[in-house]
Amino acid sequence: MLRLYNSLTRSKKIFSPIHKGVVNMYSCGPTVYDHVHIGNLRSFIVDDLLQRVLRNVEKYKVNWVMNITDIDDKMISQIDKDYHDKEPMQALGELADKYTDIFIADIETVGIRRSDITKLPRATDHIDQMQALIKKLLLEKIAYISDGSIYFSLENYQKSGKKYGQLVNVDYDAQARLTDDQDQKEGASDFVLWKAKKAGEPYWEFEWLDSQYPGRPGWHIECSAMSTEYLGQPFDIHTGGVDLKFPHHENEIAQCGGLQANFYIHNEFLQTEGEKMSKSLGNITTLSAMPEPLAFRFAVLQAHYRSQMDFGAQILQSATDRLHTLSSYADQMLFAWKDQLPEKDDSSMTKKFIDQFNLAITDDLNTPAALSAFSHIEGKVYSHETLKALEYVESILGVGLLSAKPLSSEEKALISDYDKSRAHKQYMESDNIREKLKVDHKLQISDTQHGPLVNRIR
Ligand code: AMP
Ligand code: ZN
Repeated sequence: MLRLYNSLTRSKKIFSPIHKGVVNMYSCGPTVYDHVHIGNLRSFIVDDLLQRVLRNVEKYKVNWVMNITDIDDKMISQIDKDYHDKEPMQALGELADKYTDIFIADIETVGIRRSDITKLPRATDHIDQMQALIKKLLLEKIAYISDGSIYFSLENYQKSGKKYGQLVNVDYDAQARLTDDQDQKEGASDFVLWKAKKAGEPYWEFEWLDSQYPGRPGWHIECSAMSTEYLGQPFDIHTGGVDLKFPHHENEIAQCGGLQANFYIHNEFLQTEGEKMSKSLGNITTLSAMPEPLAFRFAVLQAHYRSQMDFGAQILQSATDRLHTLSSYADQMLFAWKDQLPEKDDSSMTKKFIDQFNLAITDDLNTPAALSAFSHIEGKVYSHETLKALEYVESILGVGLLSAKPLSSEEKALISDYDKSRAHKQYMESDNIREKLKVDHKLQISDTQHGPLVNRIR
């Protein structure tokens, strides 16, 4: 039974999907104008963790959709800088292609499989769906036109009996926060759905009541249109970082008529020196600075997703050390020969491990508590049952616990010679083999009651 903290109800709730056996989940994806930073990656790793829990613990089929924002102010200012000699629409496409490929490579590097993302739709491929939604809002008089742009009227929306402010308590005095586009609107808190064309910018035609409104979509409308297109309405789970609660998700909900998804899951920020990592603050780090990307993923999992995570060299080092220790323990079972490990763990510690892991991970993805379950088995229990348990846990964590390079036949022969010389009490010989394994093969051999256990030195 999975419980998740739902930002809509501000409480932990038992999760069950709308359609039996299938979960429809939408994650707000990147704007592809530049590399994502490791704060963004925290958000995508949390999404990935959630979809892995839904699939591998709860055994649902998961339709996971993540959008690619390929048209907004940031994209436009980037093409102005880097592609000013090209036609705007072509420039936009080239910029989006370049950073979408880089984004996919980055997420794969931190253990998010592209194949687990059912759809990765681009905003500019869904202009028709966005326009259809805007037209519906115009018909309902919830949208209005002003100077060639189209806005969402919060006043009319609320007059129609709908509630704005489901995820946050909206502070109507702080009007400036409600939109990133303050010009051309009637009510102070209205937000833009369609922005009138400006010279030199990419644009699309928009026909309404025999008039033309060339322009481009506002940011929020793409997620309402694409989530509805691929997952229906309402769908099960919508995710993003806490900064997306408002205004982005709040506006998505309003554009969808008040009910978009049943669960909203929001991750807290990755911080550096006490401040949110963000491009505008100039404190970003990208994946290229992570010597072991999966150790970064492990560091993310060591924090609960709803806690702010302070990131720095020390945190990364301790996560790396911990991951190495666990991987070495996993190696010892992976590299054991067939009859060396008993089938079952008679001490029942493996069961304790799995029980604690499952209890924690299904309690609002409590990864710190789930990771502490390793203490039941680590360095103590060796069996095929335990190895299976590690395979299961790895299918959820995705940190590469069992990805060590297999032993070569030469390495296997050396280990077998080592075992034989120990059995014949030829300790000089066994010491020499141990040294050779260490120096030439970066393999460590430990003598235990189960015989010699071997791991790669990391
Ligand atoms: P953006 O491209 O700014 O829309 O960000 C993509 C995703 O990363 C969104 O879900 C953001 O909420 C999330 N995000 C941005 N900065 C951080 C951060 N410092 N820590 C965690 N998540 C973040
Ligand atoms: Zn979105």
